[in-house]
Amino acid sequence: MKKVFVKSYGCQMNAYDAERMADVLAPEGFGEAATMEEADLIVLNTCHIREKAAEKVYSELGRVRALKRERERDGRSTTVVVAGCVAQAEGQEIIRRAPVVDVVVGPQSYHRLPELLHRAATGRGIVDTEFPLEDKFGRLPAPSPAKTRSRGVSAFLTVQEGCDKFCTFCVVPYTRGAESSRPVAAIVAEAERLAAAGIREVTLIGQNVNAYHGIGPGGAVWSLGHLLHRLADIPGLARLRYTTSHPRDMDDTLIAAHRDLPALMPYLHLPVQAGSDRILAAMNRQHGSDTYLRLVERIRAARPDIALSSDFIVGFPGEGEADFRDTLRLVDEVRFASAFSFKYSPRPGTPAAELNDQVPEEAKAERLARLQECLASHRQAFNRGTFGRIVEVLLEKPGRHPGQLAGKSPYLQAVHLEAAHLSVGDIVPVRITGAATNSLFGETADGAAGASRASAAA
Ligand code: SF4
Repeated sequence: MKKVFVKSYGCQMNAYDAERMADVLAPEGFGEAATMEEADLIVLNTCHIREKAAEKVYSELGRVRALKRERERDGRSTTVVVAGCVAQAEGQEIIRRAPVVDVVVGPQSYHRLPELLHRAATGRGIVDTEFPLEDKFGRLPAPSPAKTRSRGVSAFLTVQEGCDKFCTFCVVPYTRGAESSRPVAAIVAEAERLAAAGIREVTLIGQNVNAYHGIGPGGAVWSLGHLLHRLADIPGLARLRYTTSHPRDMDDTLIAAHRDLPALMPYLHLPVQAGSDRILAAMNRQHGSDTYLRLVERIRAARPDIALSSDFIVGFPGEGEADFRDTLRLVDEVRFASAFSFKYSPRPGTPAAELNDQVPEEAKAERLARLQECLASHRQAFNRGTFGRIVEVLLEKPGRHPGQLAGKSPYLQAVHLEAAHLSVGDIVPVRITGAATNSLFGETADGAAGASRASAAA
């Protein structure tokens, strides 16, 4: 059997796409390789969000070229595909700079991979970065229940792609295209298949997931809140999540779903990016800090225990110390349970990259350190707030030691516990007893032995 190795970078959308690419190649006789060295087909599923993303892909392709030569010496051929957002952005340029590449395929065309590989077998340098009209998802084969379950008890499910918001720092609207939503029936069928295979938790994903507006039965347009109500009825699916959301698209039905659906976990990633209205306007975020804070109030009124998470960019062009302090103030006001924070770095082709008043690197680094210290104190306070409480934990995988299991709380906290009598896929009440740097530890609430601090931190 031939083997494929898909190396995926970046967001959950790419992780989902990587599995779908493996699924579309399975009927072509490709099994999944554990390492790149043993693969007859190497797919680099790239991300354009990373700093100097394209240069990093070219440098990875240098390593792939060396590997391909080595395999050739052993009489083995290797086909190389570049997929994802860098493929979309660079297109033909990849073939020009890295002739080792056989196929360049954008995120909207990976269902065509078998056909592109057949074409590449007879002529080099196939590029497909179109936004085709056909339904990509409708053409992807479903993996077997055993294959689905082998990937874990939690799964991603893409419901929406693309973005129309055009934040001035972001490449997504250019690489993933305009917003489009999958039909309700297709999403329900995929969720039912996942549940039947033993998946307990589904995270609905999209670049701007809460802008979801899919066609429902009878032709009506469904919002994400409406869709979540339907998915919550699927037997076996115990937990629902969604990411990533834009504050402008948190409508009343979605906020009400947090109040009404026990299956919808009390965790929301709602990026704000900055706390200064001047900078938010320059980012074209289409919301101010006050709008965001009022929105948080409404969400917390609907679901008081909800854990909020965000993305932050520090050192956006024109950001001064006063703007940065506005960000710190907003963080203190919201008290985020977790967050991702980055220094601004220009992405070629985006409006912000053309702005003159770029912030010096030292100032960015200094602000990022201060912001991260502030975010860490709120994360620790949130985690301490769960000490002594009993929370339901979905057991996802074995821990590092025999008898230990690792899972997730409703608030997306990693939890470790000694629970040799339990199985992956169980959802159990756990009393939280302490915390390591990046995870909590606890004991089953029925009194089974608890994890030691040392074992949880390892
Ligand atoms: S809403 Fe998100 S995906 Fe869309 S442009 Fe802004 S940062 Fe990018």
